[in-house]
Amino acid sequence: MAIETINPADGTLVKTFPALTTEAVQQRLALAAEAFASFRRVPLAHRALCMRKLASTLEEEVEDLAALITLEMGKPILAAKAEIVKCAAVCRYYAEHAALILAPEVVQTERNHSYIKWEPLGPILAVMPWNFPFWQVFRFLAPALMAGNVGLLKPAQNVPQCSLAIESLVRRAGFPRGTFQTLLIEVPQVEAVLNDRRVVAVTVTGSEQAGRAIGAQAGWLIKKSVMELGGSDPFIVMASADLELAVTTAVKARTVANGQSCIAAKRFIVAAEIYDEFERRFVDGMEMLRVGDPMRESTDVGPLATVKILEGVEAQVKAAVAAGARVLTGGERLHGKGNYFEPTILTNVPRTAPVFYEEIFGPVAMLFRVQNIDEAIALANDTPFGLGASAWTRDPAEQQRLIAEMECGTVFLNAMVASDPQLPFGGIKRSGHGRELSAAGMREFLNAKTVVIA
Ligand code: NDP
Repeated sequence: MAIETINPADGTLVKTFPALTTEAVQQRLALAAEAFASFRRVPLAHRALCMRKLASTLEEEVEDLAALITLEMGKPILAAKAEIVKCAAVCRYYAEHAALILAPEVVQTERNHSYIKWEPLGPILAVMPWNFPFWQVFRFLAPALMAGNVGLLKPAQNVPQCSLAIESLVRRAGFPRGTFQTLLIEVPQVEAVLNDRRVVAVTVTGSEQAGRAIGAQAGWLIKKSVMELGGSDPFIVMASADLELAVTTAVKARTVANGQSCIAAKRFIVAAEIYDEFERRFVDGMEMLRVGDPMRESTDVGPLATVKILEGVEAQVKAAVAAGARVLTGGERLHGKGNYFEPTILTNVPRTAPVFYEEIFGPVAMLFRVQNIDEAIALANDTPFGLGASAWTRDPAEQQRLIAEMECGTVFLNAMVASDPQLPFGGIKRSGHGRELSAAGMREFLNAKTVVIA
């Protein structure tokens, strides 16, 4: 597939971009190495100044940038604006907190003086997806640049204009040339970039397949990697939950980014006492969503980002039904222009249906009935993934069990899972390893240099 903008709302080919030649990639790698040599010495206060400028430019240009997101990947325009605003917030968070995170840590030992000095690593490759074409990049970019690293972005092939806009924003914020570059390259070109001695580490957000390929290479090269891969997050609702709030949040949590988010709730696990009521209200909620033109502010769910994603979701639903699942609402693609799929709820999904253990990247929920908290936790953990979990209960004993026993990187009680610059974000199991955001995310790409003065 080519690097191109195709409007997912109507299938129009808007613009095509040639992939960079090998020589052009080499020039950019040389520039990144050169930029790192001087950028690492730029005072933190100056980097913070540029980062704050970047935040305000994002806010000033929110309308145009959001329109670009919606044009390229189809998320509703209001959600696209919220994404840009969140990018500004992560820039401000690191502008403000980097000094504290990077401050030398004195350790009392029997030596005269010992401490940890945090140092940047160098040019870092970021292989990024299309579902949050700004946010996924900014949550890497902001801590990396504040730390003195430099970034090389390999974006998904369907969001080239968003990715070029980010390079331009960073440059206009005053960061030196070469500090952040977008490489419009195709998948077969990634290997050579990671192989290059000037590239010291890699972060990946995307599918397990991409994670495996890049992680294997990074392991062989002994280069640090952070992996933020898929998820099939549970959303557990126990009898004591605020049902009204739980249902409204369930609908929102399943359909965020048109259902294409790693931390979207995908498996809804509901206690038998309230199951029938939850099912009725959940079906109503999904049916009330307005599916349509993502450029309209009234739209709740837009088209899926690509024809490939649409066909994948359709095949998953068909296979689930063939294995015995029942469709409570939706279940079909919307024919006509654009990659639209109906908001869907499946129930009675057997373990033999492939989708039971897969990630569904579209507005399709799986609904399960359980008898008690033991069953809820066992079912929630019966997945190869371990990204986030949202659980709804007002019972303190149940809350403690959920915190202790959920196998995942993040547990939210009585709220939907969401990333926050102040808190670590990432998963366990096949959802990946390493963390983004907060101090933990920034330190993934730092050298904790031990200094001892005898
Ligand atoms: P991919 O993982 O294919 O794409 C993510 C990024 O990885 C893109 O930049 C892609 O480039 C790149 N990439 C893919 N394969 C390789 C490889 N072997 N070596 C180097 N780079 C690679 O996701 P898709 O867009 O194909 O979506 C497929 C599924 O992945 C979804 O249905 C969903 O389950 C999951 N996914 C999860 C995301 C998350 O946030 N956790 C985000 C996106 C997808 P290119 O675009 O050029 O192919």
